Amino acid sequence: MAWKQKALVGPKPRVGVYGFTGCAGDQLLLIHTEDELLNLFRAVNIHSFVMASSKPIEEALDVAFVEGSISTEEEKEHLLDIRKRAKILVAIGNCAVNGGPQAMYAGDTKYEKRLEQVYGNAQFVSEPLEAKPLDAYVTVDYYLPGCSIDAKQAFPLISRLVHGAIPEPYPHPVCHECKLNENRCLLIDKRFCLGPLTLGGCGSACPNHNLPCVGCWGPSDDANFTEHVKLLESFGMTKKDIIRRIRNYGGHKILKYIEKI
Ligand code: SF4
Ligand code: SF4
Repeated sequence: MAWKQKALVGPKPRVGVYGFTGCAGDQLLLIHTEDELLNLFRAVNIHSFVMASSKPIEEALDVAFVEGSISTEEEKEHLLDIRKRAKILVAIGNCAVNGGPQAMYAGDTKYEKRLEQVYGNAQFVSEPLEAKPLDAYVTVDYYLPGCSIDAKQAFPLISRLVHGAIPEPYPHPVCHECKLNENRCLLIDKRFCLGPLTLGGCGSACPNHNLPCVGCWGPSDDANFTEHVKLLESFGMTKKDIIRRIRNYGGHKILKYIEKI
């Protein structure tokens, strides 16, 4: 997940927030973070944000925040248009970054067959496409992973952009935060935790509550998938089941790792 060295901006950058196929949870997170939201609306000029305003202005943008995977031809065309208009494009949330749960069968060549099994001969308003992350179609400058994104990551990134500084990704896996939070490792009790394979930034939200990480921040770049799968197999799970669970949030980005296992 390469980040570009691209900063902004002038005063009051023009911002658009968009959503494609997904649950809209990332846009909702921005709206629900009420203290920061007031500062956000003071710091930027919101041109388009369907969840916050019914009067979008579809002109040139300094920054576009885009949620959701691309799952129809119409969404693809809209994304290409946003990319043309935006100086900086930020993918927000697992669906935009990795493809989301709807991309868990990425790499399976039977997309048309699966589509027919679910929808039969239905007529579509827009031609359906296999769900893919934004960077399958356009250049993405920054990524905010998560399902949903976390305000503690989102607002510092926005703040850096507004102040003309380069945002930086969180480089460590969930285990790093989990250790800082002094949790007892769930692997000691042979519980299925994907923390070592998953990009951190959530503050180890699940292990903090004695729940295994299911990988919703998406794959960590330097994770050792082969060894972790071997460890989980030793807990009594089949490789097939383990990989299916890894794919839940790994989408297209997981393929380069699992093909080596
Ligand atoms: S509980 Fe999970 S996230 Fe925490 S250290 Fe163990 S493997 Fe890593
Ligand atoms: S611990 Fe794992 S599953 Fe839970 S929020 Fe963090 S990345 Fe997602």
